[in-house]
Amino acid sequence: MHPDSQYPSIEVAPTPKMSVFCPHCQTRLSVSPSQAGNSAECPNCSGKFQIPLPVASPSGSNAFYDRASSPEVRAFASKKVAAGVCGLLLGGFGVHKFILGLNKPATIMLASAIFCLTFGLCLILPLFLLPVLHIVGLIEGILYLTKSDEEFYQTYAIEEREWF
Ligand SMILES: [Zn+2]
Repeated sequence: MHPDSQYPSIEVAPTPKMSVFCPHCQTRLSVSPSQAGNSAECPNCSGKFQIPLPVASPSGSNAFYDRASSPEVRAFASKKVAAGVCGLLLGGFGVHKFILGLNKPATIMLASAIFCLTFGLCLILPLFLLPVLHIVGLIEGILYLTKSDEEFYQTYAIEEREWF
């Protein structure tokens, strides 16, 4: 680096090191990313190998990562716990889907549950459907709660997945 450089701060910053493993002896070696793609000799076993290129990091052009910190994602993800808990407790009534704005499948679930409760008293068959609806809601509740905020937004806000 040159002291008379116009932008010294960029050059002064320490070069981040990346880790590579010697393919011969598996020793963990620290190399500069600028050496990536070059041939190197392992200081441990003297074996020669090519330093692998660093794995591409999320770039600014990646839409998925762009959305990760946006208020839109956080606002939608704030419904995750409410929807997940409703799925676990009230699964069969589709409440968790109404919370996410998935009105069509939510209405189907609610109508099915009401049908089961109404006609289940005189017909046996609908009574068997009710536990199935609740199991669907239970599984969906678990799926909601185990997704990251970004995945949750991607799946239910962007793709508007109706079932699971
Ligand atoms: Zn080695």
